[in-house]
Amino acid sequence: MPYEISGDRPEILDVLIATKLSQNTTDKSSFRAFTNLKEKYGSWEKTADADLRSIRNAIKVCGLADTKAKEIKSLLKNLRKKFGSLDLEFMHDYSNGKIYGEFLSHKGFGVKTVSCVLIFAMGRDAFPVDTHVHRTLNRLGIVRTSSAEKTYESVKDIIPKGKKYELHSNLIKFGRNICKAKNPLCGVCFLYRQCRFEDKIKFREKDTPADTTENNFIILENI
Ligand code: SF4
Repeated sequence: MPYEISGDRPEILDVLIATKLSQNTTDKSSFRAFTNLKEKYGSWEKTADADLRSIRNAIKVCGLADTKAKEIKSLLKNLRKKFGSLDLEFMHDYSNGKIYGEFLSHKGFGVKTVSCVLIFAMGRDAFPVDTHVHRTLNRLGIVRTSSAEKTYESVKDIIPKGKKYELHSNLIKFGRNICKAKNPLCGVCFLYRQCRFEDKIKFREKDTPADTTENNFIILENI
């Protein structure tokens, strides 16, 4: 049963590229870079043929622009060469395993990115693990892992069917707004009693910052 994400479901390439742009930056910056690409070239076909420097300039707002431009252009050219066009709608007939197999073969596109495609473009039951998901699951004591990839492997088969998108989205928001990387707001955390984070007492005693504006913008829910 596909997930009901508000609005029309984005295309496979839109999600792949938006997720690539969002690496090591904020969702707001990567959304600007994504919009810049769309406005500048109008299609992924034209982006594939664009000059590398021009692509880099369009996405420089989101950082690591050299690497991201090279990997996006290479992805687009290789997909077009293999499938004859960049219309990938036929992939909706592919299994999850076949989707992972296809996109993981492209440099710079990892498990998290492909899991995002499965959830946001295809409505599949997948569980992308980013830095927030990895951190919060470790602090809560649900896993004890040293990387996002290992967290993914530990939990991907134990999350109840149909709950992966909801859990992914809520953990990102929780990690951004409460269980922050540097200064978690343990004093106001509703999971304080369950949490296994050894420094939670230290952080509970710190003052809660005056500005607790919520940061809930998720690029893949907005493309
Ligand atoms: S108590 Fe602190 S470390 Fe634990 S989950 Fe809550 S915010 Fe995160």
